[in-house]
Amino acid sequence: MLTYAGAQAIGAAVSGVYTERDAELGTPTLGDCNEPGCSGVLETEYDSGHVLVECDSCGLHVAVSIPPIVVETQDVETSPDVVRQFTVTEIQRVVRGFCDGPLETDVTGSLSTDDTDGRVGITHVCQACGNVSYTTAITLVTGHPAAVSFLYDAGIDYRDIALWKRPQGVEFAETVRSEEPLRIAVTVTAGDETLTLVLDEHLDVVDQQRESC
Ligand SMILES: [Zn+2]
Ligand SMILES: [Zn+2]
Repeated sequence: MLTYAGAQAIGAAVSGVYTERDAELGTPTLGDCNEPGCSGVLETEYDSGHVLVECDSCGLHVAVSIPPIVVETQDVETSPDVVRQFTVTEIQRVVRGFCDGPLETDVTGSLSTDDTDGRVGITHVCQACGNVSYTTAITLVTGHPAAVSFLYDAGIDYRDIALWKRPQGVEFAETVRSEEPLRIAVTVTAGDETLTLVLDEHLDVVDQQRESC
């Protein structure tokens, strides 16, 4: 029986084989762009461990980290959804607070309550490998039952959301409501309803409100 350390060494060796070279991403497109009013298509490219997704007509540009072993062993050409599935899985690991060690989070954006850019940036640093991930506050509520059911009632399956394919008809805003104690409000509007979730300093949801607008 393999010890955990042994299994880790083998895992590292396997990915080591693949990180020595780049991978070919067999699919040229991830389908139509979903940005409002855009009729472009989403082109992809694989470079240095990242899948780059770019719209050929609007400014949409997303880079997501995906190891070559995923691209090499999964048939991305016939199942481009693999890219999204992997990304969703990675994001959910970040949301739950783990890389290969626990993540330390830091609120890095819009700490001033005057800031009205509508986004609150959050940095997650792995205490084991030092890997850094960046999200904004709304990412922390993906998977929360109130958000899942709110989107479901608006006809949106949250499992289908991709970083490069945000659902149409949904608007959101993130604001720092107070710094001591830290409270971040995430407001999502879909149809004629608004859902507000409030995160505390541990980025846990401590308050929620759903109302007609
Ligand atoms: Zn576009
Ligand atoms: Zn790590």
